[in-house]
Amino acid sequence: MRLSLALQHRSSALVANYRHLQLRAATATGAAIKADAYGLGVKDVAKLLLDAGCRDFFVSTWWEAAELDFLPPGTLVVLHGFGSEDEVQPGVRPVLVTPQQVARWKASTFADEPCDVMVDTGMNRLGLGTKELGCLEGLSIHTLHSHLACADDDDALNRMQLERFLAVQQVVRAGRYSLANSAGIYLGSEFAFDLVRPGLALYGGIPRAEARGEIRQVTTPTARILQMRSVPAGESVGYNATFVAPRDMRVAVINIGYADGYRRAFSSIGSARADDQTLPVIGRVSMDLVTLDATDAPQLAEGDWVELSFDLEEAAAQTGISQYELLTGLGRRFQRSWI
Ligand SMILES: *Cc1c(COP(=O)(O)O)cnc(C)c1O
Repeated sequence: MRLSLALQHRSSALVANYRHLQLRAATATGAAIKADAYGLGVKDVAKLLLDAGCRDFFVSTWWEAAELDFLPPGTLVVLHGFGSEDEVQPGVRPVLVTPQQVARWKASTFADEPCDVMVDTGMNRLGLGTKELGCLEGLSIHTLHSHLACADDDDALNRMQLERFLAVQQVVRAGRYSLANSAGIYLGSEFAFDLVRPGLALYGGIPRAEARGEIRQVTTPTARILQMRSVPAGESVGYNATFVAPRDMRVAVINIGYADGYRRAFSSIGSARADDQTLPVIGRVSMDLVTLDATDAPQLAEGDWVELSFDLEEAAAQTGISQYELLTGLGRRFQRSWI
């Protein structure tokens, strides 16, 4: 089968981002690899980070954990915990997130096995409330977690959550304590505790301004030219005729669209590159097609590859779509390759 739409991942950038976060946090550094490692491909990411020394991996569900049986025992953790229909896999720990899950764990055959626990310190999403900690008595807690709501902002809640987590640390015994996601790593060493849990920044996202110039882009969508066409001045291009050619133009039509996660919000805003030339997106992004202004790249022809500009911070600013959604939205038609 002919390759025609590809995501090119740079393994050197993934590993460099891991090392940078590890240095910055100066503590054990895990990896959030839920949602197919934010769309990059979970098996490859887990193997590369395992080789880089990572020993703490986080997925959301047991279903996601099932395909990671090559990870060493004790290195994989399921963030959604121990639901009534969940089957625990040997060597994988749940993060117990409610008093009900704690009770279920205690009543199960795993009661004496190590587990993780999530405490809510102010996000009011998953986790035991700070007044519900009594039920943890008797558990063998491997790692006690909490999660920051506003780490990507300078919000007073960051310090409040830190103080509440320090108070929890005084009353709940655990092997390790962990609070910070990618953005939290940049809040300072007090937030690092015994383990940090980055996701976004591993994959090239910029969670806070401090990460600019430090975190490298990991993935680049590439597509091929299906057609080169001439568009005379005054003619329109694409759905709803939103773009009208101001002069005679050469237009490259490429085989990517919003069905691939190249969102409609890139219409007339995004760009691609070929041979060091920038090719602006003109008109609407269609489901499977995008039109580029290739007037200044006369060498381009049908079958040539172009790289879509996918600097996550810039793309998020241009489109108003979060870096997380841009990454996890990348579709299933790409062939993923590591270079
Ligand atoms: C997803 C997730 C992370 C990683 O967050 P990023 O912002 O992508 O770094 C960390 N901790 C928990 C509990 C998560 O659910």
